[in-house]
Amino acid sequence: MPKLGLVKFAKSREVEGRILNATVRRNPSGKFFVSILVETDVQPLKKTDSSIGIDLGITDFAVFSDGHKVDNHTFTAKMEKKLRREQRKLSRRALQAKNKGIHLFDAQNYQKQKRKVARLYERVRNQRDDFLHKLSTDIIKNHDVICIEDLNTKGMLRNHKLAKSISDVSWSAFVSKLEYKAKWYGKTIVKISRWFPSSQICSECGHQEGKKSLEIRDWTCPICHKHHDRDINASKNILAEGVRTLDLA
Ligand SMILES: [Zn+2]
Repeated sequence: MPKLGLVKFAKSREVEGRILNATVRRNPSGKFFVSILVETDVQPLKKTDSSIGIDLGITDFAVFSDGHKVDNHTFTAKMEKKLRREQRKLSRRALQAKNKGIHLFDAQNYQKQKRKVARLYERVRNQRDDFLHKLSTDIIKNHDVICIEDLNTKGMLRNHKLAKSISDVSWSAFVSKLEYKAKWYGKTIVKISRWFPSSQICSECGHQEGKKSLEIRDWTCPICHKHHDRDINASKNILAEGVRTLDLA
């Protein structure tokens, strides 16, 4: 490296392809990373003849039209509690330094705690990123057509009750991973209008009921008497709507 010369590093994966450039950065917890940009050919994955609908939710992170659910990573609540605790400690340390008339930059206890909080944040972020990568790769491998709602995250964030959960589960990060992996591996993502009433329609007979408040987790269709899990039913409707729009195109 310029100025530093030879530097030891840990390699997270093999570099494949022609290296175009490398960027070194240091994150808030003090670790150094090198990102390497390469030019490479990506082979499309083999076709599976399978299509799937996904309902992104709050109780569960994702609910699939084949009936399976991926919960909103259990570690989150535990890690959040820990983060809050360490953050309070950081505020106390800042106050202590202020009372003693020490500049924060020179307050050793404060700086030490600051690094600790940064490391915790980093861990939460890494775990989440890892979770989203595994889930999106798994979906892309197993299905050719993936139907999802076109989320208006901005609109939803205005609703404060939902805001925290939404930022937690990082839907938009998940969708963008799905999208670029689909492009790489020759799969199709179909986005359904966010106005499509996926929770109101009976996926069995097509009967459309009125709006259902978020507390209603399951319901029975008054016409065909099929009992529905709210989110599985929604993901089935998302799949049907996605396949329909794809056929029109
Ligand atoms: Zn029905």
